[in-house]
Amino acid sequence: MSKTLQAIRGMNDILPEQTPTWRYLENTLAELLDGYGYKEIRLPILEFTELFARGIGEGTDVVDKEMYTFLDRNEESLTLRPEGTAGCVRAMLEHGLTGGGQVQKLWYAGPMFRYEKPQKGRYRQFHQMGVEVFNLPGPDIDAELIVLTWRLWKKLGLADAVTLQLNSLGSSEARARYRDALVAYLQERYDLLDEDSQRRLTTNPLRILDSKNGGTQALLVDAPTLHDYLDEESVAHFEGLKARLDAVGIRYEINQKLVRGLDYYSRTVFEWVTDKLGSQGTVCAGGRYDGLVTQFGGKPTPGVGYAMGVERLVLLLETLGLVPEELNSPADVYICAFGEAAELAALGLSEQLRDALPDLRLVVNAGAGSFKSQFKKADKSGASYALILGDDELAKRVVGCKPLRDDSEQQSIAWDALAEHLAACLKQA
Ligand code: ATP
Ligand code: MG
Repeated sequence: MSKTLQAIRGMNDILPEQTPTWRYLENTLAELLDGYGYKEIRLPILEFTELFARGIGEGTDVVDKEMYTFLDRNEESLTLRPEGTAGCVRAMLEHGLTGGGQVQKLWYAGPMFRYEKPQKGRYRQFHQMGVEVFNLPGPDIDAELIVLTWRLWKKLGLADAVTLQLNSLGSSEARARYRDALVAYLQERYDLLDEDSQRRLTTNPLRILDSKNGGTQALLVDAPTLHDYLDEESVAHFEGLKARLDAVGIRYEINQKLVRGLDYYSRTVFEWVTDKLGSQGTVCAGGRYDGLVTQFGGKPTPGVGYAMGVERLVLLLETLGLVPEELNSPADVYICAFGEAAELAALGLSEQLRDALPDLRLVVNAGAGSFKSQFKKADKSGASYALILGDDELAKRVVGCKPLRDDSEQQSIAWDALAEHLAACLKQA
């Protein structure tokens, strides 16, 4: 027997019973972003490898260990996008959309790919919904991005399940000075560091701050702190952000060890975290990346954005029982037809009903079948009404309309009056 084919580990099918929750989440966010004046952008899933190497940075876990990179038939090195920001910046430059200080407020959604160890909340193909804003340097827009996510949590019923962690990384110069101080401090204690952190000391030292190793964390207690190195302007920027969050009543926790995995952040960084999902608790993460566009050869262009993990949010909604029940809404009406002539009439009738009642969820029986079997299917569809069409009904140009969810009698309704009758019945239900 041949081996059954399976999906690649860490790449999930999203099955029909799950897609309503996905659509609910995606639609809720899309509507929200519409309301704040953000526009959608759709970007390729494949890009040249160099884009991510330059944009995300060598020495980051994503670039060093997690990318799906391969040569195409033309020997070009391509990579399945591990995140959305680099591609978005590339598109801005390629189409001149941020030139002359043009403000762009954008969002995107779609699959991302990282070669990670699959576990709950961590997959190799996962989905993000992200937002990016260009050419607005002030803390007002950083605040708006956070306010937007906060409103999403409120809409989804998640406001009490997530907390906001906030930090400022300062200017890239300030960050560099802090990095030197941190490296000097840790270099003296090199032997006490865990192996991963020893490696990061040369590749990406700030990342050591969020090491999970107990010994390393103990060493960090007396290490230099980032905020002692912040430049004045970044301090003012951070104060501006906090004042705005205070003004709308968003609570936050300052976490000086929050540095984010990607190289391109400066000033604001933030994460929304939940304790309801175990160790994969970050559901939304982002920050300011004023230096990224120049890294791609563009003119200095402030940027700020975030990405949410859709799988983690779906898990959170499910865990907390917050998936609205009506999402799995069944059909309204199921048409049963007996005999070839009745089937033809049923098809015509169903299309007339769809014209008259555009929101009607109508299932036409397919595959013929006995009265009993069609009725069983009608019941299983969850429909509120079965319409019955046989030779008798055909001759009289009527249908039998049988309520399926209560004991009321079947009625005979003329074809001409059917749309009106159904509209009235469904309005009542
Ligand atoms: P983590 O520390 O969990 O690895 P990250 O810092 O690598 O996260 P980002 O690159 O900031 O994550 O991505 C933003 C969000 O996308 C994360 O907060 C998370 O919700 C989600 N995410 C990232 N990687 C994965 C993954 N492999 N599977 C599922 N969701 C993910
Ligand atoms: Mg990661």
